[in-house]
Amino acid sequence: MIIGPHCRDPYECPLTDCWDSLPEHNVFSLYYGGKKSFAMYDSGILTVGEIPDDYKLNDKQRIQQACVVNGEPHVDKEAIQDFLSSLQYPLYYLDFETIGPAVPLFDGVRPYQDIPFQFSVHVVQDEQSPPAHYSYLTSGTDDPRPALLAELQKVLGDSGSIIAYNKGFEEGILRDLAEAFPEYNNWIDQVCSRLVDLLVPFRNFDYYHPAQKGSASLKAVLPAITGRGYEDLDISDGQLASITFLAATYGDMPEDERQKVRANLKKYCALDTEGMVWIVDRLKELCS
Ligand code: SF4
Repeated sequence: MIIGPHCRDPYECPLTDCWDSLPEHNVFSLYYGGKKSFAMYDSGILTVGEIPDDYKLNDKQRIQQACVVNGEPHVDKEAIQDFLSSLQYPLYYLDFETIGPAVPLFDGVRPYQDIPFQFSVHVVQDEQSPPAHYSYLTSGTDDPRPALLAELQKVLGDSGSIIAYNKGFEEGILRDLAEAFPEYNNWIDQVCSRLVDLLVPFRNFDYYHPAQKGSASLKAVLPAITGRGYEDLDISDGQLASITFLAATYGDMPEDERQKVRANLKKYCALDTEGMVWIVDRLKELCS
């Protein structure tokens, strides 16, 4: 059958072979390609590299196309330097892991509300210092938020940029925490005012590597820019972290397996923040 919008609308087709057989850098990997990708596919253009120069693309899509053709990353040093100049030491790299069950586990929580059960923070004091790692993973079945907040407050200090990847997620978690625990309101306001989004230079295509295949997500950017990724980890994405945590914490799991899951969760969350440290180091190298 011919691939088309009917593959996903009104329902996702369970067959994936049709999509899996497409070549690398196919037109569906074009950044926000949408209908344009289907139109190109229908007209016989299969890959981003085959898109004619006079085809109407936006600036980001044109950068992606040029990178596929050249096999080289795009680097806008001036824009990257502007981003790096906005960072204030000490740098705190922050990531939360969350659960959001349909049936809330704790009082006052909405269905599907993201509840943080774990954080990882890497702290870089100054240009010369190696990163120090701090983390928290709740134990037991009680509401994880009070202890998590108390631990986070010990780690984040009073000044310096707090770097997250797609900061809207971390900010949403923090605002929900402020609503549930108003005694932290002022502190959370101060923390949110220090948040910096490491997604920005990648969403703006100030840096783009062909290996990102049209994605600016951390999982696409980290291996593309640093050559290091998540492939050696048993837990390699946030959804799996959430499901595994729920099974290990509220399910009937043997203790040795539970401990293994906890160790894997710590490794995964730590890589999200250490990976951000590596990315910023690499951006600095590119601008030096
Ligand atoms: S993915 Fe499903 S709907 Fe789409 S072409 Fe293949 S079989 Fe048809």
